[in-house]
Amino acid sequence: MESIYIPHLLKAPRRTVEFQFEEFLPGLETLTPVRGHLRVTYKTTFLDVWGRAEAIVTLTCDRCLKQYNHRLKIDTSEPLWLDASADRSQGGEEVEVAFEDLVETLSPNGHFDPGDWLYQQLCLALPQRQLCEGPCEPPKSSTPDSSESGVDRRWAALEALKQQLSG
Ligand SMILES: [Zn+2]
Repeated sequence: MESIYIPHLLKAPRRTVEFQFEEFLPGLETLTPVRGHLRVTYKTTFLDVWGRAEAIVTLTCDRCLKQYNHRLKIDTSEPLWLDASADRSQGGEEVEVAFEDLVETLSPNGHFDPGDWLYQQLCLALPQRQLCEGPCEPPKSSTPDSSESGVDRRWAALEALKQQLSG
């Protein structure tokens, strides 16, 4: 996805760039391409970004550790503040540092990367607790075969010891 040079938005009709997309995003593992619609409007002090997107992702269930497919969906808008000092490393005292911590700012002469924005939104939309839609049962403590034979071996050793003591 191509980044948008912010000054170009000023020349766009209604200062808006709008497009549809269907592509895989770098860094985000999805089963299907991310499909959706994005709109960016220049609002003098901020960019009004709106996006709708969906993709299928494969998640691992927190409880049974099985993999399952999940439809990841976003429909969100966010103001991205334009700040001429955003591309300068110096000039900021405490107040400015605090401001940058709270909100994301872009330089009005810089670029907006829609792919990166979508990536962040989709990551935020990932469920905190990932649970499959059953049948979902916690796996038996470790794999059954090895643990049972492990217990058997310990048990056999104990039996042998008992016999030694009693005999
Ligand atoms: Zn499960």
